[in-house]
Amino acid sequence: MHTPDLEKAMTGLQQMVQEARTIVPFTGAGISTECGIPDFRSPGGLWTKNRPIPFDEFLASQEARNESWRRRFAMETEFSTARPGRGHRALASLHRMGKIPAVITQNIDNLHQVSGFAADKVVELHGNTTYATCLDCARRYELAWVRERYEAEGHAADCAACGGYVKTATISFGQAMPEAAMRRAEQYTAACDLFLAIGSSLVVWPAAGFPLLAKRNGARLVIFNREPTDFDDMADLVIRADIGAALEPFIVHAVSDASSR
Ligand SMILES: [Zn+2]
Repeated sequence: MHTPDLEKAMTGLQQMVQEARTIVPFTGAGISTECGIPDFRSPGGLWTKNRPIPFDEFLASQEARNESWRRRFAMETEFSTARPGRGHRALASLHRMGKIPAVITQNIDNLHQVSGFAADKVVELHGNTTYATCLDCARRYELAWVRERYEAEGHAADCAACGGYVKTATISFGQAMPEAAMRRAEQYTAACDLFLAIGSSLVVWPAAGFPLLAKRNGARLVIFNREPTDFDDMADLVIRADIGAALEPFIVHAVSDASSR
């Protein structure tokens, strides 16, 4: 986008944010790339080199569970050191101001929570990779526990309470979508008057359904993405700039935590 166009778009964005009563952001990998979280799906991304392990394989084989955990441990430096980016902080600012009731995300990196959203204000469609749960009894496990057991026993450990399989709290390929999260995402989307699609290609279901739902309910739609999406034509504004740069003007430093952010 040429600079004069970008300036015009940014002015339009400022105005839409001011006029909006309820803003609902929907975020994808693009908001986290400046935080060092790789976009698994992108060309050259991890998933083009390492085929993701589908859920049925995870259930069927100890070796698949071991491999799944080896890959997760290999990513731990990236996930544990990542800090919220400008996009996360801008959304957290608008949340503190009362403009954003909750954020819907495809990301599994926990960075919206770290930026200041309470866990129940982050609707995670693909789960969360920063902790694990037992697939049978839902007991929560921290990654350090899983890793200790793995290193001691040489294979992925089962639930200490019920013997079920312990898996990162993410939604794998072939695993059922989280129904409660889907319902909440739809409710927030239908109730907003400004929907911000940020850093998502809007291709993977169910991501593609949300901009449509928002528009159908009368909301304005703004799309931030590096590449064109199928919904650009119906958007009220398309911003094809760096996401952190585009959202940075909305960061408001709270007095109490200005030093830590
Ligand atoms: Zn269990």
